[in-house]
Amino acid sequence: NKQVVLKDYVSGMPKESDMCINTESKIKLKAPDNAVVVKNLYLSCDPYMRSRMRKLDSPSFVDSFKPGSPLSGYGVAKVVSSGYPNLKEGDLVLAWGTTGWEQYSLITAPETLLKIQHTDVPLSYYTGILGMPGMTAYAGFYEVCTPQKGERVFVSAASGAVGQLVGQFAKLSDCYVVGSAGSEQKVDLLKNKFGFDAAFNYKEEPDLDAALKRHFPEGIDIYFENVGGKMLDAVLANMRVHGRIAVCGMISQYNLEQPEGIHNLMSIIGKRVRMQGFLAGDFLHLYPKYLMTVLPYIKENKIVYVEDIAEGIESGPAALVGLFTGRNVGKQVVCVAKE
Ligand code: NDP
Repeated sequence: NKQVVLKDYVSGMPKESDMCINTESKIKLKAPDNAVVVKNLYLSCDPYMRSRMRKLDSPSFVDSFKPGSPLSGYGVAKVVSSGYPNLKEGDLVLAWGTTGWEQYSLITAPETLLKIQHTDVPLSYYTGILGMPGMTAYAGFYEVCTPQKGERVFVSAASGAVGQLVGQFAKLSDCYVVGSAGSEQKVDLLKNKFGFDAAFNYKEEPDLDAALKRHFPEGIDIYFENVGGKMLDAVLANMRVHGRIAVCGMISQYNLEQPEGIHNLMSIIGKRVRMQGFLAGDFLHLYPKYLMTVLPYIKENKIVYVEDIAEGIESGPAALVGLFTGRNVGKQVVCVAKE
């Protein structure tokens, strides 16, 4: 049972060498009562996994990984053996944060396995558009940003797992939407595949404030925040009165020991901006409704989804680390096995 194991806690930028492939582990394929053994098919690479690589000394919404043990997270898997009445051998499941980065996993919290009912779409989509990142985009945009027709929306890390969907939801809501991303290839995707009204490469912009003023001469109504740091600071200065900021993530801060300073925070007051953090897990009750909304969109090609699939469990460390250099183009997935 090959596993991706964290060698030790990580500080600074994570490296492939912070993890190793363990080929020595063995697993019993017969599940005990109230547990399930699964064969992992697709593992999801998610930025929050970085926070689990550090030793957390204060309570957080997730636990640290244990050095010497495999990573864990979201994934699509097939039930091999079940001691849990709601699942049977052969069922396909979406593991909501609880499967191991290994070929086979023993799941002792089987209620976190959501049975996959719709298999006429790529299974890997359940790590992205039909899984946690999809719910993040949906709940963050509709519930937290409360968009109105015609509003001006800005999305950072816009070509990624979450961002590409936020932009498409914004277009379906008749908003004007601009995205930022870190390469010309990604900017091209935003404009020509996902239908953003405009996009820019933040790495080529010496002055983010000027870039935002160029795209939003009348200011920003909604900012879907994925990156934090300098971008958030520039956005704060460009928000409109009664604007909303959904704080989804701040990936530019995850590898720093000290967060970067924000200078324009006071803009929130004068402009009565609502800035709200949220977690996809808070909105799990909306998942069935979300699936019913988004599945037809996928089938009718009203929403497209770009994935970046790395083959084989051995590719896991590089795929995960690549999130922090922008190597991934679209949702980063690791394919462990196709069936
Ligand atoms: P992505 O698929 O967007 O991958 C991460 C991307 O972030 C990279 O491709 C890169 O794109 C960009 N990035 C990396 N480092 C930096 C940096 N220093 N500055 C700016 N951009 C950077 O990831 P997700 O869509 O899965 O996640 C996007 C955000 O949403 C993250 O902040 C994540 O933590 C958050 N999140 C929050 C959830 C919640 O429940 N609140 C749930 C899921 C995700 P580029 O080339 O454009 O720089």
